[in-house]
Amino acid sequence: MNWYERLKKNAERNAEKNQMYLCPEPEQLKTLIEGLAVNRERYGYPSCPCRISTGTIENDKDIICPCDYRTLDVVEFGVCYCALYVNKDIHEGKRPIEPIPERRHTSNNWAA
Ligand code: SF4
Repeated sequence: MNWYERLKKNAERNAEKNQMYLCPEPEQLKTLIEGLAVNRERYGYPSCPCRISTGTIENDKDIICPCDYRTLDVVEFGVCYCALYVNKDIHEGKRPIEPIPERRHTSNNWAA
C-alpha cells in the first residue's frame, strides 16, 4: 500500500471513529489526500495540505492531520480548514462547502 492509499484509509477510519465524513467532492478529496502524501514523503509526517509546513516536526505538531483544530472547526463550521473532514449536513449536500477562518495563529498561514 502506498502513502496515498494508507492516508486515505486512515482518514476514512478517523472520520468514522469521530462521527465525521470525508470531503464529498471526489476531485477535492483526491487532491487533499495527495497533498498529505506529498507532505508525508517530503517531511516524514502528513502535515496539513492547506498550510505551509516548516519541515520541523516541533513547529508543525499542531498541523499534522488531523490537526488540533479539526474537531472545533467541524463542530463550529461543519468543515475543517481544508474541508477534508466535514459534518453530516455537508456530506449529504444540505449545505455547501465554504471557506472558514484560520483558527491557527502563526505567521506561516498562507490562507489566513
Ligand atoms: S485542516 Fe483538515 S486537512 Fe488540514 S490538517 Fe486539519 S484536519 Fe487535516
